[in-house]
Parts: sequence; structure tokens; C-alpha cells
Amino acid sequence: MSRIIVVGAGINGVTAAIELKKRGHNVVLVDPGPLPHPFAASTDISKAVRAAYGADEDYTDLATRSIELWRKWNQEFGTQFYHEVGVMFVRRRELKPGDFEHESFKTLKRRGHKVERMNSARLWKRFPAWNPELYRDGVLELEAGYAESGRVVATLIERAKSLDIELREGVRFSQLHEEDYGVSEIALDGGKRIAGDFVVMAVGAWTPYLLPFTKKFFRASGQPVFHLKPRQPELFAPTEISGARCYSRRRKEFARVSIIHVPGAVQCADCLLARLHVLRYARWAFLDRARSGAPRINNCCGRLWAWV
Ligand SMILES: Cc1cc2nc3c(=O)[nH]c(=O)nc-3n(C[C@H](O)[C@H](O)[C@H](O)COP(=O)(O)OP(=O)(O)OC[C@H]3O[C@@H](n4cnc5c(N)ncnc54)[C@H](O)[C@@H]3O)c2cc1C
Repeated sequence: MSRIIVVGAGINGVTAAIELKKRGHNVVLVDPGPLPHPFAASTDISKAVRAAYGADEDYTDLATRSIELWRKWNQEFGTQFYHEVGVMFVRRRELKPGDFEHESFKTLKRRGHKVERMNSARLWKRFPAWNPELYRDGVLELEAGYAESGRVVATLIERAKSLDIELREGVRFSQLHEEDYGVSEIALDGGKRIAGDFVVMAVGAWTPYLLPFTKKFFRASGQPVFHLKPRQPELFAPTEISGARCYSRRRKEFARVSIIHVPGAVQCADCLLARLHVLRYARWAFLDRARSGAPRINNCCGRLWAWV
């Protein structure tokens, strides 16, 4: 049995801590808090969960497994963290080999996933908010959906406590203390130290700042995420599949629009206003906010509530 220090209590840190504890180790989990940390990437109302990763079989494998595990967690925790509402990727032109959507469709179909090609006006009819003349083609992955990620982390923190993981909330890792044979302890802000046999660093976008040697290969980046409140939410609640096919939130009336590449494509928005906001708020999210201190770049998810 080893004493293992896990630094960072986002989704990766807290799940690592629980798994290590289950394997019989003594685990210390360290985070400045408050937990779930408001700037952690994991602390969000929702995160998309989907197996569509183009032609990338490894990612598709991992995501397929994660969907099974999300269903298991829904049961195990007796609450719905994962909402299987479907995820759709769309294009204005017909899909062709090499396109992310085309490759995703091919891969998922071959692997037996429930997936539909959205390439006829008849299919689009079930999504009345979408203009089939504008969006000619796409992929709808029916078993995909979203996880209430902040709520999941909060629940896992409680589980970690109940498993007697030593939670050090309110302390900040400052550096690794290395001996010839490896890392023997970590130093905290203020000079205190915690000794351990192994250290797991799970500090997300803070990594290049806390472990400067990783600057050579890690760079923190971000995605602005926009929450749009449709004037007619009923248009986003198709009757033929349950839930909303945009990222529906707890209250079911919001469509989440994720801006994946900036300045780039709106993943699922039939809305000119959203496109204009992309350029305006991408600058705000990436440039202006990043200036006020490096680690805050992690918070550049630039959430915006817009009325459309
Ligand atoms: C805007 C946005 C949208 C995303 N959307 C999706 C999505 O739809 N689907 C999906 O699968 N993924 C998505 N991701 C990616 C996903 O959120 C991250 O991969 C995941 O949350 C990373 O978790 P983590 O535990 O590694 O890091 P984090 O959740 O960032 O946790 C890092 C932890 O380290 C702690 N920490 C920082 N400094 C210190 C220190 N000095 N000492 C100790 N602890 C410290 C922080 O307090 C924090 O709790 C998105 C990410 C972003 C930013």
C-alpha cells in the first residue's frame, strides 16, 4: 500500500483519488477550493458526451465505454447525471469523405451505434427550429447527450470523503520536491510540505504554470461556451426523440451552443446572432480575460447568456 498525493480535485483528480483508494492506497487529495472549484474546467452545468470522433477509433472506444459508465453512475448514484438526449453535428453542404461528420457517421454505423444521417427535408421535419435548406446534412448520435459535470464533481467529492480519502481543501500546491530517486513530497504555498510515495498531478489547464517543465509540450487553451435562450423553446423539443437535441439543460429550455474552433463553426446554431457573438466574445474570452493572470485562462469558457 502506498501513500499517494493527488493534486487537483476536478473530474480527473477526484476520480483518480477514488480509484486509487479502492485499490487499497492511502490517498491525499489537494485543491485550493472551494470545491468544486469555480474555475475548474469540470465545473460546468453540462458537458457533451458523444462517441462521434471522426475516424479516431481510440477516442470512439473510450467515449463508447464512458457512455456505458455514465449509465452505470446514473444507477449507482440514484440520480440522473447523464442525459441521453442525442448530439447532432451539422453542415451546410453534403458530407464527404474526410469530413468529421462523414467519418463519424461511418465509424459509428460500422460499430453498431444508433446514429442517423440528417440529409433530407423529411428527416429535418422533426427539428422544426432548423432550416433544412440551410443545413443540408449532418449526423445525429442518439445515445450521446450531456453530463451535469459540476454536480458530478460535487457528488464525487462527497464520495471521496466517505471513503476516508484525506481531503486537503484550501491548500495550494506550489512545487514538487524531487530527490535523486524521484518525488518524495510536495510543497504548498506558505512552505508546508506533504510527503508521499507517488504524486498524481491533475491540475488541468494550470499544468504548464505549476509544472514549468511541461510548458514545452502543454499549452492552456479554452473554448467559449454560449447559452442561448430561444424565444420559442418548444421548437427545440422535438416529439420524435426524447429531450432536446441541442444541449438541453436542467430546465430544458436552453439550447447550448458550443463554439469549437475560434473563429470557427458554431456546432449547432441556426442563428446569425450567435455567429456575430463568436467573433466578439472570442476576443473577450481569449484575449481580454487571459491578460488578467495566466491561470485564469482556464476560466475562459466565456459563458454568455444571450436572448435570441
Ligand atoms: C469551455 C469548456 C467546454 C468543454 N466542453 C466539454 C464537453 O462538452 N465534453 C467533454 O468531454 N469535455 C469538455 N471539456 C473538457 C473537460 O471539461 C476537461 O477535459 C475536464 O474537465 C478536465 O478536468 P481536470 O480534472 O483535468 O481539470 P479541472 O477540472 O480544470 O480541474 C483542475 C483542478 O486543479 C485544481 N488546482 C489548480 N491549481 C492548483 C494548485 N496550485 N494546487 C492544487 N490544485 C490546484 C483546480 O482548483 C481544479 O479543481 C470542456 C472544457 C472547457 C474549458
